Amino acid sequence: MAPKQSAAALQSASVLPFRREAQPSQPPLYLSPPHLAGRELELLQETLESGWLAPAGPTLARFEAALGKVVDLPHAVALSSGTASLHLGYRLLGVEPGDEVWTTTLTFVATIAPAAQMGATPRFLDVDPASWTLDPQLLRDELAAAARRGRLPRVVVPADLYGQPSDIAAIVAACAAWGVPVLSDSACALGGLQHGKPAGHGADLVAVSFNGNKIVTASSGGALLSADPAMIARARQLATQAKEEAAHYQHETTGFNYAMSSILAAVGLAQLPALEERVATRRAIFGRYVDALGELPGLSFMPEPGWARSSRWLSAMLIDPRRFGADRETVRLALAAEGIESRPVWKPLHLQPAFRQAPQAGGAIAAGLFERGLCLPSGSGMSVPQQFRVISAIRALYRG
Ligand SMILES: *Cc1c(COP(=O)(O)O)cnc(C)c1O
Repeated sequence: MAPKQSAAALQSASVLPFRREAQPSQPPLYLSPPHLAGRELELLQETLESGWLAPAGPTLARFEAALGKVVDLPHAVALSSGTASLHLGYRLLGVEPGDEVWTTTLTFVATIAPAAQMGATPRFLDVDPASWTLDPQLLRDELAAAARRGRLPRVVVPADLYGQPSDIAAIVAACAAWGVPVLSDSACALGGLQHGKPAGHGADLVAVSFNGNKIVTASSGGALLSADPAMIARARQLATQAKEEAAHYQHETTGFNYAMSSILAAVGLAQLPALEERVATRRAIFGRYVDALGELPGLSFMPEPGWARSSRWLSAMLIDPRRFGADRETVRLALAAEGIESRPVWKPLHLQPAFRQAPQAGGAIAAGLFERGLCLPSGSGMSVPQQFRVISAIRALYRG
């Protein structure tokens, strides 16, 4: 058997999306890999030597203070993940079985999973085509209708999308009219701005994430922030097993083990100062995609409304298959064959089998974005030549 044939046989038999062996000189390009800021080892060493190998101590306090500055909120508690932060937020806002919890349908499942697990009924609202985040006008109409039915949601949870903040000012105004609190899932939008304020700012509670794929990371982790000191003091207590002040551990209720480790806080503390630079880099990456691909018929990009500055955590593109000559899935598979990771825009939650029973309001806009939307490699460590690999691979698929 000729070596050529066996290599071809190997490739066609492979079910792996990335054929590393096909282009050994070109390492795979991932969607959003972690990017070191420089001081991680130094701060890790300092933390290890301090002896605080606990979910408490000076590194954590420094991390929380630094984060509070970034999000312009005076009170922050660092937690084990963004999902844990959302769970704690739901608990703080008193979500109980049977309550309705409203969110946008175009988000990651972690936005709503904790509420669903608490026995709440999710209700999924469509997005505004100008921002791809929760539509404030639809929210206003739905809240008025819910008030007439006598069943307002326990909490409304706008979820930022790919670095694009939700319109918190409009959402908080709509909710305040009915006394409904707002928990902002800003897990993916650190560095994003809305009305000149950090993503989520203005909501009763803001949840953020430091997962490895986010714009800055602690390798994993999250945090809950608020302007209300009592809320964060309560969060801190619930995150550490709801201990009351007593040597014997008194418990009036049960809590969680959700506090962040000092080791993670050291990594996060090293990453936070790089945030503005990371936003600039990701926005430049987005701009380069638009410049190089935006002129091709059938390709367009995620909008940015006038009131927002997206962090462009992920660059998202829309593909009209009739005008471009290839659909989103064809493009995704062609990129994967070249070792380039891309991912469809979130499948809307109202279309997920897990939420078959959940009520919804609209959803057609989000469904259309899912059908045509693709997230492209957006890591701040990606070089310009690497990005041009992605651009060339996409251009080669155009059949005008
Ligand atoms: C990343 C993310 C989460 C979950 O955060 P983890 O830290 O991974 O638990 C939740 N919501 C959105 C929108 C996210 O992007």
